[in-house]
Amino acid sequence: MNKVRVVGAGLAGSEAINYLAKQGYEVELYECKRKKRNEAQHSDNFAELVCSNSLKSMSSTNACGLLKQELIELDSLTMKSALLNRIPTGEDLSVDRNEFSLNITKTIEDFPNVKIIDEEYEDIIDDGILTIIATGPLTSTKLADNLTSYLGVETLNFFDAAAPLVYSSSLNFNKLFEKSRYDKGDGKYLNSSMNEEEYELFYKELVNAERVILHDFEHFEGCLPIEVMAKRGKDTLCHGPLKPSGLDENARAVIQLRQDDAAKELYGLVGFQTNLTYQEQKRVFSLIPGLEKAKFARFGLMHKNLYLNAPLVLNRDLTLKKNRNIYIAGQFSGVEGYVESAASGLLSAIYLDQRLKGNENYLIPLETMIGSLVNYIVMSSPKNFAPMNATYGILYNHQGLDKLACYNRSIDGIKKWKKKLI
Ligand SMILES: Cc1cc2nc3c(=O)[nH]c(=O)nc-3n(C[C@H](O)[C@H](O)[C@H](O)COP(=O)(O)OP(=O)(O)OC[C@H]3O[C@@H](n4cnc5c(N)ncnc54)[C@H](O)[C@@H]3O)c2cc1C
Repeated sequence: MNKVRVVGAGLAGSEAINYLAKQGYEVELYECKRKKRNEAQHSDNFAELVCSNSLKSMSSTNACGLLKQELIELDSLTMKSALLNRIPTGEDLSVDRNEFSLNITKTIEDFPNVKIIDEEYEDIIDDGILTIIATGPLTSTKLADNLTSYLGVETLNFFDAAAPLVYSSSLNFNKLFEKSRYDKGDGKYLNSSMNEEEYELFYKELVNAERVILHDFEHFEGCLPIEVMAKRGKDTLCHGPLKPSGLDENARAVIQLRQDDAAKELYGLVGFQTNLTYQEQKRVFSLIPGLEKAKFARFGLMHKNLYLNAPLVLNRDLTLKKNRNIYIAGQFSGVEGYVESAASGLLSAIYLDQRLKGNENYLIPLETMIGSLVNYIVMSSPKNFAPMNATYGILYNHQGLDKLACYNRSIDGIKKWKKKLI
């Protein structure tokens, strides 16, 4: 049996392990969270969703919806577990985060050919074993530093923030109402409307609240802390995460809470990723009607995201230009998001497998969302390179097809590609 190595059992690593183990490889997994968790981790399980429990839209006209469908075609473990542990939140694919991770953990632990090493992988072991490094945005410092010296290229970073979770038993349901925006999808969010006076007070306290880090950092635009977004103008939130349209047209702002677990014990504050101190989160977010006595199961948190300058260091098959025995996958490779990370993990495993099997024509077609995403990260300009989500804007589409036609073409492309794999 051929031996391969995977480092990190997050979204990307878990996909890779599952694929390689099913192909019969002896998989050596290095994962350090059971020995020492990072600041965003709360459990010992693999594929932990460290912030939102949403894997975004399932719609075919949404780029992440297309990416998910491609993953389903490729028998993705992430998608299997997500659909099995789905909770109703409208069009989004939201999951019971614990059951989702538990299911993936069990799948991996049950493989007799996966050897789990609960240790930090500190530096590249150049022993000829093909290795997928999928250590995520919080890659341990030692490994990040060693890789930086090995590659001679600085790792890049941006700052990002996670949102808090509250216990439903501590909420005042008389002040909340159940509804999905425009009643789309079968799920319901809990919503809290604010009138002008309530919003005025909330806004003032939010922009003046104490933050953990006071210097200016580079944030990822797709995930700005709520207080940073608020500082851009009083109406900004009301056109963003707190927009009332489709929920309560008479309100100044509406805050949405998304169910986080099947038992409905936990709810996440949608769009409330934050960098306020824990005390201030409690004080300011308790101004939201219905959350006056909210108990926080988890506070929001700010963190640094590390990623490689993919266009400088990666080949199209996700191997390092400097060492083709090393693959890089997941958020650390320069993709952004849970589903994107899972997709790149699965792709790296397929590439590794095909290479070992001697297939010379295994690159995924560009007209697929996974293909375009990986093409984007390796072909971008290295200057100002920033992590990339799935979006229709990067999908290879020189004929100018509409989204539905692109969707059909992509799924067809995946099916044809699958047939070419050995
Ligand atoms: C706090 C936070 C909030 C986020 N919120 C969202 C969100 O709401 N929605 C979204 O789509 N994306 C979010 N992201 C971005 C991204 O989608 C996730 O980080 C996703 O989990 C990335 O998947 P991954 O497999 O690349 O890395 P991870 O899931 O982080 O997995 C990496 C694994 O590698 C392990 N590891 C790290 N270093 C080593 C080492 N040296 N040796 C051994 N093991 C190691 C870690 O313990 C971890 O288990 C967030 C990221 C963070 C950090």
